[in-house]
Amino acid sequence: MNFSSSRLEALKQGLSVLPILWIFVSADPLAGQDIVSQTAKTFELALGQQLIEFTTESSSLPGDSIQVISLHRNEDTSFPIVRTLLKTHPGQFIRISTSGGRRLSLKSGGSKSFTMDPNRMFSPAGIERDLRNFSFFSPEIAAEVQAFSKAYLNQVELRAGKTVIAVHNNTNGGYSIESYLEGGSEELAGRLVHIEEGEDLDNFVLVTDLDHFEALKAAGFNTVLQDNENAPDDGSLSVYCGRNGIKYLNVEAEFGDAAEQEQMLRAAFELATAKQAYRLPEMDGRSHSVTAPRIKVAPEGRQITSGAISLDDSPGNRSEMQSEIRNKRETTPIPVTERR
Ligand SMILES: [Zn+2]
Repeated sequence: MNFSSSRLEALKQGLSVLPILWIFVSADPLAGQDIVSQTAKTFELALGQQLIEFTTESSSLPGDSIQVISLHRNEDTSFPIVRTLLKTHPGQFIRISTSGGRRLSLKSGGSKSFTMDPNRMFSPAGIERDLRNFSFFSPEIAAEVQAFSKAYLNQVELRAGKTVIAVHNNTNGGYSIESYLEGGSEELAGRLVHIEEGEDLDNFVLVTDLDHFEALKAAGFNTVLQDNENAPDDGSLSVYCGRNGIKYLNVEAEFGDAAEQEQMLRAAFELATAKQAYRLPEMDGRSHSVTAPRIKVAPEGRQITSGAISLDDSPGNRSEMQSEIRNKRETTPIPVTERR
């Protein structure tokens, strides 16, 4: 059994208390290819002088509680994986399909050029900060972005009871799970941080729900539980969801790391498909247990755990993985920081 499949097994064990769920999620993703298909539709929302195009791809399976969301047009490593998972899981995939990069390049109604980050538009404070950071702020432009944000939220119908799976890619060496540790740029946004030994720090899942955190941690994924009350309001979808009682899992993977993104996404879909709250089984007696976690208490009561080791992950494998990661980091230039 390899490292990845053992982690998925652990996740399955955590969910096996829900028999109905398990029958459903244990289906082979390829087996359903002939019997389910997805439909794609587009919609447009006005922003300044432009119409921004979005594409919605829906599973043909019943249920509308899962919204997979991509807000950064260029962060597309996950797209084929999401489509595959929608063949065996209900849900909708809503992505920006207007061409562009992380920031949209736009013209305001008053013909001023500006750019904006769609993942900073979910609060007035976030919009203002993002525009000011790039010297584009004016009350008129902020109002246009605010109207666009409102129209988007109406269109995707985000509300309590839904689960959002956001997909993002980052670059090696910039924003990572370490950003949520003491002294990191996102220190105030994280309540619990679990770093899995041997895992690439750029690959992690940020969640708003403690049960999701515990399940992903037990399954051996790098995981952050957002501090929903105290996370600074940066206008991101994660903070919006955290403050509005919407369960949210942000699957953050290094550009091009499709294999790890698939593992994380599959886990996120399985957790999002759970129809009721579940409790993780006792850790004792589980083949995949967390051994001797080092817990340090961060300022203001936040806890950081790290050093969890999968028993299937032999020391030899770990050091091999770590040196692989180290080599990669040493040979890759440090790029501009990109986050969520
Ligand atoms: Zn992103």
